[in-house]
Amino acid sequence: MVCRFTALALALSLFCAFGYGQVTAIKAGKLLDPETGNVAANQVILIENGKIKSVGPDVKVPAGAEVIDLSRSTVLPGLFDAHTHLCYTSQPDQRNQFFIDMTETTAYRAIEGTKNAKDILEAGFTTVRDVGNNGRYADTALREAIENDIVPGPTIINAGRIIAPFGGQYHIQPDRPELGNPEYLYADTHDEMIKAIRENIQYGALMIKIVVDDQKYIYSAEDIKFIVDEVHRAGLKVAAHCMTTEGARNAALGGVDSIEHGFRMTDEVLQLAKDRGVVLVGTDFPEKAAEYLGQGPEFAKAFHTIFLDRLKRAYKIGITMAYGTDTFFAVPGETRGTLAISYIDSFVEAGIPAKDTLKIMTTNAAKLLGVEKQRGSIKPGLFADIIAVPENPLDNIQTLKRVSFVMKNGKVVKSAKNSSIRF
Ligand SMILES: [Zn+2]
Repeated sequence: MVCRFTALALALSLFCAFGYGQVTAIKAGKLLDPETGNVAANQVILIENGKIKSVGPDVKVPAGAEVIDLSRSTVLPGLFDAHTHLCYTSQPDQRNQFFIDMTETTAYRAIEGTKNAKDILEAGFTTVRDVGNNGRYADTALREAIENDIVPGPTIINAGRIIAPFGGQYHIQPDRPELGNPEYLYADTHDEMIKAIRENIQYGALMIKIVVDDQKYIYSAEDIKFIVDEVHRAGLKVAAHCMTTEGARNAALGGVDSIEHGFRMTDEVLQLAKDRGVVLVGTDFPEKAAEYLGQGPEFAKAFHTIFLDRLKRAYKIGITMAYGTDTFFAVPGETRGTLAISYIDSFVEAGIPAKDTLKIMTTNAAKLLGVEKQRGSIKPGLFADIIAVPENPLDNIQTLKRVSFVMKNGKVVKSAKNSSIRF
């Protein structure tokens, strides 16, 4: 039963979260459509009730509307990071995963997540897919707090707890078999897989993440197909963490929606995944980000080189890609947002044209997340998730590191001083 006061509070929070009653017009000097790569000059975007009402050069601005002048900027849809861990923050001197499980409560991690969520939103990421490692559903709490406008953050599609063969991603010892909890839901039999999926959905997961192959015993293509069928029946999608060639092949054969990392994918497995419509979320670590993993410069160089090589091959083969970063580490002087945007360096280094990188960061990711009818483009009917940058990113994609304006659900969450005027 919903009490009247709860219903009223919910209505009020929705009213605020989506800017109801507010009409806003954005004057865009240049408007970039990542889907087509077109740039249109001097456009007006009219926003009402959190959604885009109309876009064009001759859109009439109603009296009383708030006008946001971005006439000296390039305006584009908010960015996506399809592989985050917002409620997991590994400190420089504590890179061992066990440390966080042993010392940080889920409540602490949810609070930590609010900081990461705000930072990543302010960097221009208006939607993220959070793929687990959030304790006991800190990600659900964070998502709901953002949806209820309690804290700022991107739209989140979250995975809940990661489903994995016994041990998860840890190599535990027999006196402490549960050390991999709560990070992982161990599931080895089909009964355990069904239970793990249903528990996740019950506790607020909007997608399912599996770890295929971090142990010697890996999920078979049949196991993965079994999971995918159950998850798809519930209307959710499956992301598969794959570290080996065999794991990625099994994931592609099992019909997952995305392969995460996939840095050992051969050309044959990339082609197989492409043929089966699987999206690659490559988490393509630039060398600098790999250094933050704290395993020395040689490791960072080798790690980055493997990712870069796979990124180049993936682009050449033409598998659909979505931008995902896997940032889970704290770095002095950086935020989760500045770290996440730094992964564009790998795309530049791999020689991928800015036009394609922008699609990977917006429309491709929106389709993977299943939100393409709500987000990822600046079109009438979609939520107003809009950012602005000083230069045209098609000429210089590095400008994405200097996002000056962020709007989510029609609400301004970041703007340069004096850029907002009201008539
Ligand atoms: Zn990850």
